[in-house]
Amino acid sequence: MEPVLSIQNITKNYGPIQALKNVSFDVPAGSVFGILGPNGSGKTTMLGIILDILIADAGTYSWFGGMQKDAARKQIGSLLETPNFYHYMPAIDNLEITASIRQAGLDDRNRVLQLIGLAERKDSKFQTFSLGMKQRLAIGAALLGRPKVLVLDEPTNGLDPAGIAEIRSLIKTLNKEGITIVIASHLLDEIEKVCTHVAILKKGTLLLDGPVNDVLRCVDQIEVRAADLLQLQNILQKMNGINKIQLADNSLLLTCAPGVIPEQVNSFCSNRGLVLSHLVLKKKSLETKFMELTS
Ligand code: ATP
Repeated sequence: MEPVLSIQNITKNYGPIQALKNVSFDVPAGSVFGILGPNGSGKTTMLGIILDILIADAGTYSWFGGMQKDAARKQIGSLLETPNFYHYMPAIDNLEITASIRQAGLDDRNRVLQLIGLAERKDSKFQTFSLGMKQRLAIGAALLGRPKVLVLDEPTNGLDPAGIAEIRSLIKTLNKEGITIVIASHLLDEIEKVCTHVAILKKGTLLLDGPVNDVLRCVDQIEVRAADLLQLQNILQKMNGINKIQLADNSLLLTCAPGVIPEQVNSFCSNRGLVLSHLVLKKKSLETKFMELTS
C-alpha cells in the first residue's frame, strides 16, 4: 500500500544550527507513527515542515502519493500546541468556533464529541474539564472535517497518569477508526505503548525507522566467565548464534541471535572441556537500548 506520507532527504538549518540532516522515511497508511528523540532532536521541526508551517532547506515530502498540497492539507488534522479555548464556554460552543475557522460544518461536532468521549459533557464549560478532557477536546478540534491523518506534537505533555491513559486510549480508538496518526514524543514509553511504527532522531539525524517491534526489539545478552578467558573466547567464537563477544570486567558479554539460551552456551563450552565459573542472562531493557541509540 502507498505510504500516507513520504519524506525524502529533508534538511533544515536555523542559522548555524542543523535541526534536520538529510532525513528520509515513509509513514505507512493505518499506522500510529512515532517520531521519537530527545529534546532538540528535530521532531517539532519535522512536524512543522510536513504541515507546511516551515520550509525545508533541502529535500521533499509528499502526502497521499503526491496529492496537491492544498487538497492534502484538508485531509490532515494537527495539534502542535494547545488551542485557545474559551474557558467560560461549553465544549460544544468551543468546537463551533473551531469548526467555523476550519469550515468543517456544525453537524460534525456531535460525531467528534462522541469519538473523544465527551458527548455527555458537551454542555459543560471548558474550565470545569480535567487536563485529560481538555486535551481530548483539543484533539477533537483537530478531528473536525474528518481528516484521514492526525499529527500530534507531544500529546501527553503536562498530563497526570490518568490524563495520559485517556489520551493513549483515544489514540488507539482513532486509529481503529482508520485514522493514521503521527506523534512526536521524547518518551520511549509513549511510543512503545501506542505506536506501530517509529523513526528515531538524534540531533537531526535519523538513526532507525520501521515497525516498533523490529526497531525497539530487546536484545538480551549472556555474561560468561571462566578461569581462562582467552580460551573461553576462542571456543565461543566457534559457536553459531553468537553475534558479538565483548570483554567486560573479567567476563565476556555475548550478544546472541534470538533463541540462543544460556544452557546452550554452557553445554557448548563443557563439550569442549571448559568449565564456566559464571553464566548469567542479562535482560536489556528498551530504556537501555534507547539510551544507547540516542546518547
Ligand atoms: P523539543 O522536544 O525540545 O521541542 P525537538 O526534538 O522537537 O525538541 P526542535 O524543536 O525541532 O526539536 O529543535 C531542533 C533544533 O533546532 C534544536 O537545537 C533547537 O534549539 C533548534 N531550533 C528549533 N527552532 C528554532 C528556531 N526558531 N530558531 C533557532 N533554532 C531553533
